[in-house]
Amino acid sequence: MADKRVMRSPRNPFAIAQRQFDEAAAILGLDEATREILRWPMREFHFLIPVRMDDGSVRVFKGFRVQYNDARGPAKGGIRFHPEETIDTVRALAAWMTWKTAVMDLPLGGGKGGVVCNPKELSPTELERLSRGYIRQVARFIGANIDVPAPDVYTTPQIMAWMMDEYDIIKGHWEPGVITGKPVELGGSRGRIDATARGGIYTVREAAKVLEIDLRGQPAAIQGYGNAGSFAHKLAVEILGMKVVAVSDSRGGIYDPDGLDYYQLIEHKRRTGSVAGFPDTTPISNEDLLELPVTVLFPAALENIITEENAPRIKARIIAELANGPTTPDADVILHQRGVFVIPDFLCNAGGVTVSYFEQVQDAMNYYWKEEEVHQRLDEKMTKAFHDVYQMSQEARVHNRLAAYLVAVSRVVQAMKLRGWV
Ligand code: NAD
Repeated sequence: MADKRVMRSPRNPFAIAQRQFDEAAAILGLDEATREILRWPMREFHFLIPVRMDDGSVRVFKGFRVQYNDARGPAKGGIRFHPEETIDTVRALAAWMTWKTAVMDLPLGGGKGGVVCNPKELSPTELERLSRGYIRQVARFIGANIDVPAPDVYTTPQIMAWMMDEYDIIKGHWEPGVITGKPVELGGSRGRIDATARGGIYTVREAAKVLEIDLRGQPAAIQGYGNAGSFAHKLAVEILGMKVVAVSDSRGGIYDPDGLDYYQLIEHKRRTGSVAGFPDTTPISNEDLLELPVTVLFPAALENIITEENAPRIKARIIAELANGPTTPDADVILHQRGVFVIPDFLCNAGGVTVSYFEQVQDAMNYYWKEEEVHQRLDEKMTKAFHDVYQMSQEARVHNRLAAYLVAVSRVVQAMKLRGWV
């Protein structure tokens, strides 16, 4: 049984995930047992990972894997390497994965993993030993039909390749479907690398249609310039014809009202490690970036950055939540009242898990699709999910996040009922 203590801070991501679920459960009139199962992870694992460092010493890292709910299919969710990782962050992300796979109507459940570490302080060989050590701890609990990890913040296709290799060594057979987000040469899917951003861009395109906004030439801002944020820049320009006027990362932000060139900026970031200092731009803080007069704001970094304090000052028409949990529940209410159209995280950033699911399907067939085929299938899935949620928001007269919860929770409950759990 999971330790049911949850840090009581209002910014605790798992307290927020539970609060969001409770709101949906009340509207759906769920019974006590159903609520109890869905408010908590069904299984969670806490473990220590000893790692031999390059200087010969041993460091011990704390790791987690949470299998939140697998009524609809194997648990699915990334592994995050972060110095501030906590079990409650992992629980929240695992809950959101459960709702994400359900809102996308994928035959998967929800899970998540993490290691408390600072990957920027580890050498490549130390990172490899940590990644393999993680798999040694969870190998008996994961598998293509049990629980399938993937990348998240500060984990990469290379890390997935080491993890898959370690799993294959332990099991003594080739099983690429145990992990997704792998390099294409090792059973990864074409189109996975930019899938999260691409899926988010498709939902922005659909939002603009229902709001009757022409996005061409309109300004956008992006907080976070990693996998999700940097590809959002590229695709907002390529697919939507927008201009991206501001971006930021953990070292700072930059602003240019005429729009930033993606290719030059990504080259600058590759050379210097940050977007900060990009020539002919004005520095901007992460806080100020959120309040710029843009049409679309993409939070693409970490949790709780749009709060009741700054929500009244947000000027964007659409907030496309590529990050998980960027908006607090109090901010949600303020944004809704102010007519800001929020595309909630577990819908907006579901492109990653959707192509991860495509990757599993291709691994199972041992036959791989062309990139255009992946894009087209992703577009179909994102567009359908967007309109399921939008229709629910209109019918139930609730904001988009609550509508997404109503769609997702109903599907998970239906699966639990059919299994005879509740
Ligand atoms: P990443 O590690 O590639 O990038 C994270 C980015 O955020 C980096 O540019 C980092 O500098 C920046 N950042 C960190 N702290 C910051 C701060 N305080 N202020 C501003 N920027 C900061 O991670 P990612 O995969 O792009 O993930 C970003 C978000 O998207 C996370 O919330 C993640 O859970 C979510 N997400 C990612 C995927 C995916 O497939 N990559 C899928 C779904 C959701």
